[in-house]
Amino acid sequence: MIYLIKPLIVNITIIFSLMFNANLFFPFSKRKPLNFKQQTIFGLFSAFSAKLCMLYPIETLEDTNFDFRMIPILVVTLYGGWYPGLICTVIVVIIRYTIGGEYVYVGIAVSILALGIGLLFRTVFLKSTKKMLYGLVVISIYYLGYIFILFSTVSFLGINFYIVYFLAFGITFIALIYTVERLIIANQQFDETLYMDKLSTVGQMAAAFAHEIRNPITTVRGFIQYINNDTKDENLKQFAPLILDELDRTNKIITNYLTVARPTDFSLNYIDVNKVLQDSVELIRPFGSYRNVSIELELEGDHFIYSDEHHLKQALMNIIKNGIEAVEEDQGGYIKIHKQSGEEKGTIVITIVDNGIGMTEEQLEKIGLPYYTTKTKGTGLGSMITNRLIHEMKGKIQYESRVHTGTKVTVTLPTVRNKS
Ligand code: ADP
Ligand code: MG
Repeated sequence: MIYLIKPLIVNITIIFSLMFNANLFFPFSKRKPLNFKQQTIFGLFSAFSAKLCMLYPIETLEDTNFDFRMIPILVVTLYGGWYPGLICTVIVVIIRYTIGGEYVYVGIAVSILALGIGLLFRTVFLKSTKKMLYGLVVISIYYLGYIFILFSTVSFLGINFYIVYFLAFGITFIALIYTVERLIIANQQFDETLYMDKLSTVGQMAAAFAHEIRNPITTVRGFIQYINNDTKDENLKQFAPLILDELDRTNKIITNYLTVARPTDFSLNYIDVNKVLQDSVELIRPFGSYRNVSIELELEGDHFIYSDEHHLKQALMNIIKNGIEAVEEDQGGYIKIHKQSGEEKGTIVITIVDNGIGMTEEQLEKIGLPYYTTKTKGTGLGSMITNRLIHEMKGKIQYESRVHTGTKVTVTLPTVRNKS
Protein backbone atom coordinates (compact mmCIF):
# COMPACT_ATOMS: atom_id res chain seq x y z
CA MET A 1 0.00 0.00 0.00
CA ILE A 2 2.79 2.38 0.91
CA TYR A 3 4.12 2.33 -2.66
CA LEU A 4 0.76 3.82 -3.68
CA ILE A 5 0.57 6.43 -0.98
CA LYS A 6 4.10 7.76 -1.19
CA PRO A 7 3.94 9.29 -4.69
CA LEU A 8 0.41 10.53 -4.01
CA ILE A 9 1.62 12.44 -0.96
CA VAL A 10 4.34 13.99 -3.08
CA ASN A 11 1.71 14.99 -5.64
CA ILE A 12 -0.52 16.52 -2.97
CA THR A 13 2.39 18.46 -1.50
CA ILE A 14 3.39 19.81 -4.90
CA ILE A 15 -0.13 20.98 -5.72
CA PHE A 16 -0.71 22.69 -2.39
CA SER A 17 2.67 24.31 -2.12
CA LEU A 18 2.43 25.76 -5.61
CA MET A 19 -1.06 26.99 -4.96
CA PHE A 20 0.05 28.86 -1.84
CA ASN A 21 2.92 30.35 -3.77
CA ALA A 22 0.64 31.44 -6.58
CA ASN A 23 -1.62 33.12 -4.03
CA LEU A 24 1.34 34.83 -2.43
CA PHE A 25 2.43 36.51 -5.64
CA PHE A 26 -0.97 36.89 -7.32
CA PRO A 27 -3.60 36.94 -4.57
CA PHE A 28 -6.78 35.10 -5.52
CA SER A 29 -9.74 37.39 -5.68
CA LYS A 30 -13.32 37.12 -6.71
CA ARG A 31 -13.96 40.78 -7.26
CA LYS A 32 -12.17 41.50 -10.49
CA PRO A 33 -11.98 39.21 -13.47
CA LEU A 34 -8.47 38.08 -14.34
CA ASN A 35 -6.78 39.98 -17.13
CA PHE A 36 -4.86 38.33 -19.94
CA LYS A 37 -1.51 38.46 -18.17
CA GLN A 38 -2.85 37.01 -14.95
CA GLN A 39 -4.62 34.25 -16.85
CA THR A 40 -1.37 33.37 -18.60
CA ILE A 41 0.50 33.30 -15.30
CA PHE A 42 -2.10 31.10 -13.63
CA GLY A 43 -2.09 28.82 -16.67
CA LEU A 44 1.68 28.43 -16.51
CA PHE A 45 1.68 28.01 -12.74
CA SER A 46 -0.83 25.19 -12.91
CA ALA A 47 1.02 23.62 -15.85
CA PHE A 48 4.19 23.67 -13.79
CA SER A 49 2.46 22.02 -10.87
CA ALA A 50 0.95 19.39 -13.20
CA LYS A 51 4.38 18.77 -14.67
CA LEU A 52 5.93 18.24 -11.23
CA CYS A 53 3.13 15.82 -10.42
CA MET A 54 3.99 13.89 -13.58
CA LEU A 55 7.55 13.50 -12.35
CA TYR A 56 6.21 11.49 -9.43
CA PRO A 57 3.66 9.02 -10.78
CA ILE A 58 2.84 5.70 -9.20
CA GLU A 59 5.55 3.85 -11.09
CA THR A 60 5.05 0.32 -9.99
CA LEU A 61 1.90 -0.23 -12.03
CA GLU A 62 3.14 -1.62 -15.32
CA ASP A 63 3.46 1.03 -17.98
CA THR A 64 0.82 3.38 -16.60
CA ASN A 65 1.43 6.89 -15.26
CA PHE A 66 -1.08 7.55 -12.54
CA ASP A 67 -0.68 10.92 -10.89
CA PHE A 68 -2.73 14.02 -9.95
CA ARG A 69 -1.96 16.22 -12.94
CA MET A 70 -5.69 16.50 -13.73
CA ILE A 71 -6.34 18.36 -10.48
CA PRO A 72 -4.46 21.52 -11.55
CA ILE A 73 -6.21 21.34 -14.93
CA LEU A 74 -9.64 21.04 -13.31
CA VAL A 75 -9.07 23.75 -10.72
CA VAL A 76 -7.48 26.29 -13.06
CA THR A 77 -10.22 25.78 -15.64
CA LEU A 78 -12.99 26.10 -13.07
CA TYR A 79 -11.58 29.26 -11.54
CA GLY A 80 -9.64 30.81 -14.41
CA GLY A 81 -11.55 29.87 -17.55
CA TRP A 82 -10.76 28.32 -20.90
CA TYR A 83 -7.54 30.18 -21.61
CA PRO A 84 -5.44 29.20 -18.56
CA GLY A 85 -7.11 25.77 -18.67
CA LEU A 86 -6.01 25.35 -22.26
CA ILE A 87 -2.42 26.44 -21.51
CA CYS A 88 -2.22 23.90 -18.72
CA THR A 89 -3.81 21.12 -20.76
CA VAL A 90 -1.67 21.71 -23.87
CA ILE A 91 1.54 21.63 -21.83
CA VAL A 92 0.42 18.50 -19.99
CA VAL A 93 -0.51 16.80 -23.26
CA ILE A 94 2.86 17.64 -24.83
CA ILE A 95 4.76 16.36 -21.81
CA ARG A 96 2.66 13.21 -21.62
CA TYR A 97 3.28 12.64 -25.29
CA THR A 98 7.05 12.89 -24.88
CA ILE A 99 6.96 10.46 -21.96
CA GLY A 100 5.34 8.01 -24.35
CA GLY A 101 4.61 4.40 -23.46
CA GLU A 102 1.74 2.11 -24.16
CA TYR A 103 -0.95 4.27 -22.54
CA VAL A 104 0.07 7.63 -23.90
CA TYR A 105 -3.32 8.28 -25.52
CA VAL A 106 -5.18 7.29 -22.39
CA GLY A 107 -3.11 9.82 -20.44
CA ILE A 108 -3.87 12.49 -23.01
CA ALA A 109 -7.57 11.62 -23.12
CA VAL A 110 -8.10 11.93 -19.35
CA SER A 111 -6.29 15.28 -19.30
CA ILE A 112 -8.45 16.69 -22.08
CA LEU A 113 -11.48 15.28 -20.32
CA ALA A 114 -10.52 17.32 -17.25
CA LEU A 115 -10.44 20.48 -19.35
CA GLY A 116 -13.82 19.64 -20.90
CA ILE A 117 -15.49 18.96 -17.56
CA GLY A 118 -13.97 22.13 -16.11
CA LEU A 119 -15.31 24.23 -18.97
CA LEU A 120 -18.72 22.60 -18.86
CA PHE A 121 -19.27 23.33 -15.17
CA ARG A 122 -17.35 26.58 -14.81
CA THR A 123 -20.23 29.05 -15.04
CA VAL A 124 -22.48 27.24 -12.58
CA PHE A 125 -19.56 26.46 -10.30
CA LEU A 126 -18.54 30.11 -10.02
CA LYS A 127 -22.10 31.15 -9.27
CA SER A 128 -22.82 28.49 -6.65
CA THR A 129 -22.55 29.42 -3.01
CA LYS A 130 -21.78 25.86 -1.90
CA LYS A 131 -18.57 25.36 -3.84
CA MET A 132 -17.41 22.21 -2.04
CA LEU A 133 -20.69 20.44 -2.66
CA TYR A 134 -20.62 21.50 -6.26
CA GLY A 135 -16.99 20.41 -6.50
CA LEU A 136 -18.18 16.97 -5.41
CA VAL A 137 -20.64 16.93 -8.30
CA VAL A 138 -17.92 17.99 -10.73
CA ILE A 139 -15.47 15.36 -9.54
CA SER A 140 -18.14 12.63 -9.61
CA ILE A 141 -18.96 13.40 -13.19
CA TYR A 142 -15.29 13.51 -14.05
CA TYR A 143 -14.85 10.10 -12.42
CA LEU A 144 -17.57 8.65 -14.65
CA GLY A 145 -15.64 9.64 -17.76
CA TYR A 146 -12.27 8.79 -16.26
CA ILE A 147 -13.30 5.34 -15.09
CA PHE A 148 -15.01 4.64 -18.40
CA ILE A 149 -11.81 5.49 -20.30
CA LEU A 150 -9.70 3.40 -17.91
CA PHE A 151 -11.85 0.32 -18.08
CA SER A 152 -12.07 0.36 -21.81
CA THR A 153 -8.30 0.67 -22.29
CA VAL A 154 -6.18 -0.31 -19.29
CA SER A 155 -6.28 -3.83 -17.81
CA PHE A 156 -7.57 -4.12 -14.24
CA LEU A 157 -4.96 -3.01 -11.71
CA GLY A 158 -6.37 -4.22 -8.41
CA ILE A 159 -9.19 -2.85 -6.32
CA ASN A 160 -6.88 -1.51 -3.60
CA PHE A 161 -5.20 0.74 -6.07
CA TYR A 162 -8.44 2.19 -7.41
CA ILE A 163 -9.84 2.85 -3.96
CA VAL A 164 -6.72 4.61 -2.72
CA TYR A 165 -6.16 6.57 -5.91
CA PHE A 166 -9.68 7.84 -6.46
CA LEU A 167 -10.27 8.56 -2.80
CA ALA A 168 -7.06 10.58 -2.51
CA PHE A 169 -7.81 12.31 -5.83
CA GLY A 170 -11.28 13.38 -4.68
CA ILE A 171 -10.18 14.50 -1.24
CA THR A 172 -7.30 16.52 -2.66
CA PHE A 173 -9.59 18.18 -5.18
CA ILE A 174 -12.20 19.15 -2.59
CA ALA A 175 -9.53 20.27 -0.10
CA LEU A 176 -8.00 22.42 -2.81
CA ILE A 177 -11.31 24.13 -3.54
CA TYR A 178 -11.83 24.67 0.17
CA THR A 179 -8.38 26.24 0.50
CA VAL A 180 -8.83 28.47 -2.54
CA GLU A 181 -12.13 29.71 -1.13
CA ARG A 182 -10.55 30.41 2.26
CA LEU A 183 -7.72 32.28 0.60
CA ILE A 184 -10.14 34.39 -1.44
CA ILE A 185 -11.96 35.39 1.75
CA ALA A 186 -8.70 36.09 3.60
CA ASN A 187 -7.41 38.26 0.75
CA GLN A 188 -10.65 40.21 0.65
CA GLN A 189 -10.56 40.83 4.39
CA PHE A 190 -7.01 42.01 4.12
CA ASP A 191 -7.92 44.47 1.33
CA GLU A 192 -10.88 45.72 3.32
CA THR A 193 -8.79 46.34 6.43
CA LEU A 194 -6.32 48.35 4.39
CA TYR A 195 -9.12 50.33 2.84
CA MET A 196 -10.83 51.05 6.14
CA ASP A 197 -7.51 52.17 7.56
CA LYS A 198 -7.07 54.62 4.75
CA LEU A 199 -10.59 55.92 5.28
CA SER A 200 -10.12 56.51 8.97
CA THR A 201 -6.92 58.44 8.32
CA VAL A 202 -8.73 60.68 5.86
CA GLY A 203 -11.59 60.98 8.31
CA GLN A 204 -9.45 62.01 11.24
CA MET A 205 -7.61 64.57 9.18
CA ALA A 206 -10.85 65.94 7.86
CA ALA A 207 -12.38 66.21 11.27
CA ALA A 208 -9.37 68.10 12.52
CA PHE A 209 -9.64 70.97 10.10
CA ALA A 210 -13.26 70.92 8.93
CA HIS A 211 -14.58 72.77 11.98
CA GLU A 212 -11.85 75.36 11.78
CA ILE A 213 -12.71 76.18 8.19
CA ARG A 214 -16.43 76.16 8.60
CA ASN A 215 -16.61 79.04 11.04
CA PRO A 216 -14.79 81.62 8.92
CA ILE A 217 -16.79 80.52 5.89
CA THR A 218 -20.04 81.19 7.72
CA THR A 219 -18.80 84.64 8.69
CA VAL A 220 -17.68 85.50 5.16
CA ARG A 221 -20.96 84.25 3.76
CA GLY A 222 -22.90 86.44 6.18
CA PHE A 223 -20.93 89.54 5.29
CA ILE A 224 -21.22 89.01 1.57
CA GLN A 225 -24.97 88.65 1.88
CA TYR A 226 -25.13 91.73 4.04
CA ILE A 227 -23.06 93.88 1.69
CA ASN A 228 -24.92 92.57 -1.30
CA ASN A 229 -28.24 93.73 0.08
CA ASP A 230 -27.08 97.32 0.44
CA THR A 231 -24.72 97.85 -2.41
CA LYS A 232 -25.20 99.70 -5.65
CA ASP A 233 -22.02 98.33 -7.10
CA GLU A 234 -23.02 96.40 -10.24
CA ASN A 235 -19.95 94.22 -10.14
CA LEU A 236 -20.63 93.03 -6.66
CA LYS A 237 -24.30 92.48 -7.45
CA GLN A 238 -23.30 90.33 -10.40
CA PHE A 239 -20.71 88.23 -8.62
CA ALA A 240 -22.21 87.87 -5.17
CA PRO A 241 -24.43 84.89 -6.08
CA LEU A 242 -21.39 83.20 -7.57
CA ILE A 243 -19.35 83.75 -4.45
CA LEU A 244 -22.21 82.46 -2.31
CA ASP A 245 -22.57 79.39 -4.53
CA GLU A 246 -18.92 78.58 -4.25
CA LEU A 247 -18.97 79.07 -0.50
CA ASP A 248 -21.94 76.71 -0.28
CA ARG A 249 -20.07 74.20 -2.34
CA THR A 250 -17.11 74.41 -0.03
CA ASN A 251 -19.38 73.93 2.91
CA LYS A 252 -20.90 70.86 1.29
CA ILE A 253 -17.50 69.33 0.70
CA ILE A 254 -16.67 69.84 4.35
CA THR A 255 -19.95 68.22 5.36
CA ASN A 256 -18.98 65.28 3.18
CA TYR A 257 -15.66 65.00 4.93
CA LEU A 258 -17.35 65.05 8.27
CA THR A 259 -19.62 62.19 7.23
CA VAL A 260 -16.50 60.19 6.52
CA ALA A 261 -15.05 61.19 9.82
CA ARG A 262 -18.03 60.37 11.95
CA PRO A 263 -20.05 57.58 10.44
CA THR A 264 -20.55 56.24 13.94
CA ASP A 265 -23.22 58.88 14.58
CA PHE A 266 -25.89 56.37 13.70
CA SER A 267 -29.38 56.89 14.97
CA LEU A 268 -30.61 53.35 14.67
CA ASN A 269 -34.16 52.47 13.81
CA TYR A 270 -36.23 49.88 12.05
CA ILE A 271 -36.50 51.27 8.59
CA ASP A 272 -38.65 50.31 5.68
CA VAL A 273 -36.28 49.85 2.76
CA ASN A 274 -39.03 50.36 0.17
CA LYS A 275 -39.83 53.74 1.63
CA VAL A 276 -36.20 54.82 1.72
CA LEU A 277 -35.76 53.78 -1.89
CA GLN A 278 -38.92 55.60 -2.96
CA ASP A 279 -37.86 58.73 -1.09
CA SER A 280 -34.36 58.66 -2.53
CA VAL A 281 -35.68 58.27 -6.06
CA GLU A 282 -38.18 61.10 -5.62
CA LEU A 283 -35.48 63.36 -4.23
CA ILE A 284 -33.12 62.76 -7.09
CA ARG A 285 -35.65 62.50 -9.92
CA PRO A 286 -35.51 66.21 -10.78
CA PHE A 287 -31.76 65.94 -11.23
CA GLY A 288 -32.36 62.94 -13.49
CA SER A 289 -34.96 64.76 -15.60
CA TYR A 290 -32.63 67.69 -15.92
CA ARG A 291 -29.97 65.38 -17.36
CA ASN A 292 -32.48 63.51 -19.48
CA VAL A 293 -32.27 60.31 -17.45
CA SER A 294 -35.31 58.29 -16.44
CA ILE A 295 -35.33 56.37 -13.18
CA GLU A 296 -37.18 53.09 -12.76
CA LEU A 297 -37.75 51.52 -9.40
CA GLU A 298 -38.83 47.92 -8.94
CA LEU A 299 -39.48 46.58 -5.44
CA GLU A 300 -40.03 42.91 -4.67
CA GLY A 301 -41.59 42.32 -1.27
CA ASP A 302 -41.27 44.25 1.99
CA HIS A 303 -38.00 44.44 3.85
CA PHE A 304 -36.87 46.09 7.04
CA ILE A 305 -33.38 46.80 8.16
CA TYR A 306 -32.14 48.06 11.48
CA SER A 307 -30.03 51.03 10.60
CA ASP A 308 -29.84 54.76 10.09
CA GLU A 309 -32.37 55.96 7.55
CA HIS A 310 -30.49 59.08 6.70
CA HIS A 311 -27.27 57.24 6.00
CA LEU A 312 -28.93 54.60 3.86
CA LYS A 313 -30.58 57.34 1.86
CA GLN A 314 -27.30 59.14 1.40
CA ALA A 315 -25.48 55.99 0.31
CA LEU A 316 -28.18 55.15 -2.22
CA MET A 317 -28.40 58.67 -3.55
CA ASN A 318 -24.65 58.83 -4.06
CA ILE A 319 -24.82 55.70 -6.19
CA ILE A 320 -27.84 56.87 -8.18
CA LYS A 321 -26.27 60.28 -8.69
CA ASN A 322 -23.10 58.72 -10.08
CA GLY A 323 -25.27 56.67 -12.42
CA ILE A 324 -27.05 59.76 -13.68
CA GLU A 325 -23.77 61.62 -14.11
CA ALA A 326 -22.36 58.70 -16.09
CA VAL A 327 -25.05 59.05 -18.76
CA GLU A 328 -24.10 61.34 -21.58
CA GLU A 329 -26.36 64.32 -21.44
CA ASP A 330 -27.25 64.67 -25.09
CA GLN A 331 -28.15 61.00 -25.46
CA GLY A 332 -30.22 60.49 -22.35
CA GLY A 333 -30.50 57.20 -20.56
CA TYR A 334 -31.97 55.24 -17.70
CA ILE A 335 -31.26 54.10 -14.19
CA LYS A 336 -32.88 50.83 -13.16
CA ILE A 337 -33.13 50.14 -9.47
CA HIS A 338 -34.24 46.77 -8.27
CA LYS A 339 -34.68 45.39 -4.78
CA GLN A 340 -35.29 41.79 -3.78
CA SER A 341 -34.40 39.20 -1.13
CA GLY A 342 -30.81 38.02 -1.32
CA GLU A 343 -29.78 34.45 -2.02
CA GLU A 344 -28.39 34.26 1.46
CA LYS A 345 -31.18 34.19 4.05
CA GLY A 346 -31.76 37.42 5.95
CA THR A 347 -30.31 39.70 3.30
CA ILE A 348 -31.59 42.02 0.61
CA VAL A 349 -29.96 42.86 -2.65
CA ILE A 350 -30.38 46.27 -4.24
CA THR A 351 -29.02 46.68 -7.75
CA ILE A 352 -28.57 50.03 -9.45
CA VAL A 353 -27.92 49.74 -13.17
CA ASP A 354 -27.15 52.59 -15.54
CA ASN A 355 -26.44 52.71 -19.24
CA GLY A 356 -23.76 55.36 -18.91
CA ILE A 357 -20.18 55.56 -20.07
CA GLY A 358 -19.01 52.75 -17.81
CA MET A 359 -15.54 52.25 -16.41
CA THR A 360 -12.38 50.46 -17.41
CA GLU A 361 -10.81 47.87 -15.15
CA GLU A 362 -8.30 50.41 -13.85
CA GLN A 363 -11.06 52.86 -13.04
CA LEU A 364 -13.05 50.14 -11.30
CA GLU A 365 -10.12 49.44 -9.06
CA LYS A 366 -9.83 53.09 -8.06
CA ILE A 367 -13.46 53.74 -7.32
CA GLY A 368 -13.96 54.43 -3.63
CA LEU A 369 -10.47 55.74 -3.08
CA PRO A 370 -10.35 59.20 -1.52
CA TYR A 371 -10.16 62.02 -4.09
CA TYR A 372 -10.52 59.70 -7.05
CA THR A 373 -12.71 61.45 -9.60
CA THR A 374 -12.90 61.85 -13.36
CA LYS A 375 -15.32 64.78 -13.19
CA THR A 376 -14.27 68.41 -13.38
CA LYS A 377 -16.57 69.33 -10.51
CA GLY A 378 -16.29 66.02 -8.70
CA THR A 379 -14.94 65.59 -5.20
CA GLY A 380 -14.02 61.94 -5.38
CA LEU A 381 -15.65 61.44 -2.03
CA GLY A 382 -19.09 60.12 -2.99
CA SER A 383 -18.25 56.45 -3.40
CA MET A 384 -15.87 56.53 -0.49
CA ILE A 385 -18.67 57.73 1.78
CA THR A 386 -21.07 55.21 0.25
CA ASN A 387 -18.64 52.36 0.83
CA ARG A 388 -18.04 53.41 4.36
CA LEU A 389 -21.73 53.77 5.19
CA ILE A 390 -22.62 50.41 3.66
CA HIS A 391 -19.74 48.84 5.50
CA GLU A 392 -20.95 50.30 8.79
CA MET A 393 -24.35 48.78 8.08
CA LYS A 394 -22.60 45.40 7.82
CA GLY A 395 -23.48 45.34 4.16
CA LYS A 396 -21.51 44.82 1.00
CA ILE A 397 -21.15 46.81 -2.18
CA GLN A 398 -19.88 45.58 -5.50
CA TYR A 399 -19.27 47.37 -8.80
CA GLU A 400 -19.36 45.80 -12.22
CA SER A 401 -18.89 47.89 -15.31
CA ARG A 402 -18.23 47.84 -18.99
CA VAL A 403 -17.01 50.81 -20.99
CA HIS A 404 -19.73 52.41 -23.16
CA THR A 405 -22.28 49.93 -21.86
CA GLY A 406 -22.92 50.89 -18.27
CA THR A 407 -22.40 50.06 -14.67
CA LYS A 408 -24.11 47.81 -12.18
CA VAL A 409 -23.79 48.47 -8.50
CA THR A 410 -24.94 45.71 -6.15
CA VAL A 411 -25.61 46.50 -2.52
CA THR A 412 -26.28 43.65 -0.12
CA LEU A 413 -27.65 44.47 3.32
CA PRO A 414 -28.66 42.34 6.31
CA THR A 415 -32.36 42.57 7.16
CA VAL A 416 -34.40 42.16 10.32
CA ARG A 417 -37.60 40.21 10.10
CA ASN A 418 -40.15 42.91 10.74
CA LYS A 419 -40.54 45.85 12.98
CA SER A 420 -43.68 44.57 14.67
P1 ADP B 1 -17.40 62.00 -7.88
O1 ADP B 1 -18.80 61.59 -8.23
O2 ADP B 1 -17.34 63.25 -7.08
O3 ADP B 1 -16.48 62.03 -9.05
P2 ADP B 1 -17.33 59.42 -6.64
O4 ADP B 1 -16.49 58.86 -5.55
O5 ADP B 1 -18.80 59.40 -6.45
O6 ADP B 1 -16.80 60.89 -6.90
O7 ADP B 1 -16.97 58.65 -7.97
C1 ADP B 1 -15.63 58.50 -8.36
C2 ADP B 1 -15.50 58.23 -9.83
O8 ADP B 1 -15.97 56.91 -10.12
C3 ADP B 1 -16.30 59.13 -10.73
O9 ADP B 1 -15.60 60.32 -11.01
C4 ADP B 1 -16.50 58.29 -11.98
O10 ADP B 1 -15.37 58.35 -12.82
C5 ADP B 1 -16.54 56.88 -11.43
N1 ADP B 1 -17.92 56.36 -11.35
C6 ADP B 1 -18.66 56.21 -10.24
N2 ADP B 1 -19.88 55.69 -10.52
C7 ADP B 1 -19.92 55.52 -11.86
C8 ADP B 1 -20.89 55.01 -12.79
N3 ADP B 1 -22.10 54.61 -12.37
N4 ADP B 1 -20.55 54.97 -14.10
C9 ADP B 1 -19.34 55.39 -14.52
N5 ADP B 1 -18.38 55.88 -13.72
C10 ADP B 1 -18.65 55.95 -12.40
MG1 MG C 1 -20.29 60.91 -7.00
